Amino acid sequence: MATDSRQASSGTRPSNFRGPDVPAPEDMYKCVHCGFCLQSCPTYLETGLEAESPRGRIALMKAVEEGRTEITPAIVGHWDKCLQCRACEVVCPSGVPYGRLMEATRANVETVFKRGFKQRRARNMGFNGVLPNTKRLNRIGGMFRFYQNSGLQTVARKTRAVRLAPGGSLEKFLPRLSDNFFIASGQIIRPEGEVRARVALLGGCVMRLTHAPTLDAVTRVLARNGVEVYVPETQGCCGALNAHSGERESARDMARKNIDAFLEVETDAIIVAAAGCGSTMKEYDDLLANDPEYAEKAADVAERTRDIHEFLAELGFEAPTGSLATKGKDLKVTYQDSCHLGHAQQITAPPRQLLNSIPGVEFVEMEESLICCGSAGTYSLIEQEMSQRLGRRKSNNIVASGAAVVATANPGCVIQMEQALERAGEGTQVRYVIDLLDESYQIADDTN
Ligand code: SF4
Ligand code: SF4
Repeated sequence: MATDSRQASSGTRPSNFRGPDVPAPEDMYKCVHCGFCLQSCPTYLETGLEAESPRGRIALMKAVEEGRTEITPAIVGHWDKCLQCRACEVVCPSGVPYGRLMEATRANVETVFKRGFKQRRARNMGFNGVLPNTKRLNRIGGMFRFYQNSGLQTVARKTRAVRLAPGGSLEKFLPRLSDNFFIASGQIIRPEGEVRARVALLGGCVMRLTHAPTLDAVTRVLARNGVEVYVPETQGCCGALNAHSGERESARDMARKNIDAFLEVETDAIIVAAAGCGSTMKEYDDLLANDPEYAEKAADVAERTRDIHEFLAELGFEAPTGSLATKGKDLKVTYQDSCHLGHAQQITAPPRQLLNSIPGVEFVEMEESLICCGSAGTYSLIEQEMSQRLGRRKSNNIVASGAAVVATANPGCVIQMEQALERAGEGTQVRYVIDLLDESYQIADDTN
């Protein structure tokens, strides 16, 4: 079980971190300011500023912890600019658990620091009103899908009427919604032959609405590999977006709901196809460490959670035989490591193994595949300038690789790279690894 980072400020310390969720001093004092992390930090690479580096952000935490400063707007600004990509955590020789540290720091900011009215209202609506409520999320998704499919979006964009609507400036970030959403209804997808494993599948929040066909592909790929898939009806959003934004109490409620849903039946694993959700569920034990009723169950769910690529590699997957080459020419594919897969879960080989197994795929590495694309959950909406700089950096690297397709493993990354490539006027496709594997299986079936 992970060490609990939540300790109430003792009152004997001069700390200006106050409240139930505070970053653990022993975590921040592991940092010896060596600077090995600087060149892995996207915001430092873009700005060259110490305050936009992991070391600088930790120094600010220490200053607050030692009572040398209050939590000021300037300090919050530097912490808010952190993508929580955890690239620094992976390279740190002192083992600073940066993700845990920043998550607790963000939670404390929301307790101690008063944000502006508009921000508070938007946060409350998104984190408390929409994300925890699956039905409301589906209704809002349905409205946006109608807006896109009815032609209203085209008119609104042409006439610029969209700018007049509340939140209209964010409309340009609206991703394409799936024609049919992926609905968790307690369905069971059974393999044809021998059952090698039984799993439960997380549908998530964003991915169900934006990439529903990929979740269908996940169930097909699993069934093809002899895995029975159960999709619990009472599941909901995993709480990742809340936890990363400092909304730990609502994240805990969402985690409890999912724990109840996923422990309802005995399964061999809980499969997650979105890297950000997988990393959060693997850390439910930390999130609920102080909850006497749920701590043990949270540890059980964390232990059982598997990323889809990790699971297939562990299980041993059927070699795909359908070729993705067209007119005798291999499809050139590169791979972007989603931060919450590559860094937070340290899973880098399995997605590459899957891609390399597909006939007719020429796999090429791109430069900086482990540098964040700038998506980072709600970051792309809140820190637009930095997000777009990183999106540009990513699209440049994708194009330089010469690949026709960039594959990845997280809905936020897919959306961010699609938008960055479109802004750059590039036609490179963005696909999930699982979609390419599924396509190869389907081609083999169609040609037999
Ligand atoms: S690598 Fe680790 S110890 Fe060194 S400055 Fe970065 S966070 Fe601190
Ligand atoms: S989590 Fe990412 S953006 Fe934040 S300090 Fe670490 S490397 Fe930089």
